[in-house]
Amino acid sequence: MKEKRKVIDCRLFPSDNKCTLALSGTEEEVLKAATEHAVSSHGEKDTPELKEEIRKMMKEESD
Ligand SMILES: [Zn+2]
Repeated sequence: MKEKRKVIDCRLFPSDNKCTLALSGTEEEVLKAATEHAVSSHGEKDTPELKEEIRKMMKEESD
């Protein structure tokens, strides 16, 4: 059985640069990639609060 992927869509994030990036993978992969992206592209700080926010933004990937 293949693992369900999570997706995160940067368009749903409040951002000032109209970012349209979407990431998908396991929850841990998405969390890591999205955190790095938020820090490098959105000037966010890598904090537990940011990770919590990212987790809330994740959705199950639809087939
Ligand atoms: Zn972005």
